[in-house]
Amino acid sequence: MAQGLSIKKLLIANRGEIACRVIRAAKELGLETVQVVSEADTDSLAARLADEVKVIGPPHPAKSYLDAGAILSAASECGADAIHPGYGFLSENAGFADAVASAGLTFIGPLANTIRLMGEKAAARAQARDAGVPTVPGSDGVIKDVDEALTLAETIGFPVMIKASAGGGGRGIRVAESSDDVRRLAPQASSEAEAAFGDSGIYVEKQIEKARHIEVQVLGDGFDVVHFFDRECSLQRRRQKVWEEAPSAAISDTVRARLCASAVDLAKSVNYLGAGTVEYLYDEATGEFYFIEMNTRIQVEHPVTEMICGTDLVIGMIRVCAGQKLALTQDEIARTGHAIEVRLNAEDPANNFMPFPGIVTGLRVPKGDGIRFDHMLYDGYEIPPFYDSLLGKLIVWAPDRAQAITRLTSALRNLGIDGLPTTAPLFLALAGNAEVQANAVHTAWMETWLERNSDMLTKQGEAAA
Ligand code: ADP
Ligand code: ADP
Ligand code: MG
Repeated sequence: MAQGLSIKKLLIANRGEIACRVIRAAKELGLETVQVVSEADTDSLAARLADEVKVIGPPHPAKSYLDAGAILSAASECGADAIHPGYGFLSENAGFADAVASAGLTFIGPLANTIRLMGEKAAARAQARDAGVPTVPGSDGVIKDVDEALTLAETIGFPVMIKASAGGGGRGIRVAESSDDVRRLAPQASSEAEAAFGDSGIYVEKQIEKARHIEVQVLGDGFDVVHFFDRECSLQRRRQKVWEEAPSAAISDTVRARLCASAVDLAKSVNYLGAGTVEYLYDEATGEFYFIEMNTRIQVEHPVTEMICGTDLVIGMIRVCAGQKLALTQDEIARTGHAIEVRLNAEDPANNFMPFPGIVTGLRVPKGDGIRFDHMLYDGYEIPPFYDSLLGKLIVWAPDRAQAITRLTSALRNLGIDGLPTTAPLFLALAGNAEVQANAVHTAWMETWLERNSDMLTKQGEAAA
């Protein structure tokens, strides 16, 4: 058995940069790897890196990466004894976690019941309240009808957010400024949630204005839970993170200690197993933080935490899910310096971020101390148009935030992805922005800034072309 683990062959039920990331961790642990791919991904970097490749179906996710039956058949044919779900796709699907366990395999994630408890946002709010973690004022669970939403909105005050209980990736969220909005948006939100997530449940939350998004990384072995400090992800577009940092430069160490302790309390209250993130909104005006959701999986931005804590979270989650105890106590986890990650998407920032799959005609990867590029690219790679547009993440570390921004700028200048537009020009502009440099931002800041500066991005795009 590899390094004393109870497993020896890991199947990766995902694609893109996270599949490559998981393969790297698996190899370091001495595990054999099986990459499942759709017919559109037989040439992917993950397929090239894995020991074995299994085609599980057509490009459409419903017929491949979301097809639990096809994935489990592939696992049985290859003799895999564990499955890593990555993020997105089936990673927070309790039914899948159950099916993996019923097939006698190890799921690299929490137990299915924990996903049920924490993965559904309305239920997770209740769990958080019970664990003494402050939540955003709002409904107790999913709302029964429009009248309930109206009464609640009038009690907590407008604007309110109508959120899909099963939502994720910034989708399934509406803002209502008035009772009329609630009457109009609640039924819409509910039917959209049904179509997008197969679950029509919605709930209502007060909108916290000018909030910061701050989250805490936890790792549990089913008995004990430790945290790896916080990340700030306030730079967002359409409620999806684009630039993430660790630690947050907006909170004092006193607030940080309370935040991290509350995340550990919540994870302990469900005997958490695996890697997870407890997400909060932080109201700078009052100094209060509020739980918004827990992601019961590895997150896109986990590398910034790895950089400041000098740890490998993917290895950590594989170890605990394969039955090992946590290797570190809380006292042994320290952080140093500052890390920033930017998400490089195949999108054209000069053209309203239109997705732009294409062929990579040249690739130059920035190198140097404190620079990391987690990606799915190679020279000549044809990006399939069927999936989300994340190509990779550029991550930098430096002793402090100002130096990290300087390093990010130079690393972005040395990064070359030829043949298609990417979001790199956006990040050069952000890194040069005085408010970003002063960390004077909140979750709605970037959208407003983009509206004011669309011209600049267009010109930068033209200059780069
Ligand atoms: P993170 O929470 O890891 O920072 P995101 O919120 O952007 O990152 O989500 C990670 C990935 O998972 C994205 O590709 C997103 O589209 C996808 N995703 C997250 N939740 C869901 C969901 N409920 N349904 C479908 N896709 C999801
Ligand atoms: P997802 O599952 O899509 O990640 P979240 O509940 O984590 O959904 O919210 C995503 C983002 O939407 C947050 O980071 C924040 O920018 C915004 N948001 C969510 N809830 C609120 C709220 N109550 N008030 C203000 N902004 C919110
Ligand atoms: Mg979230």
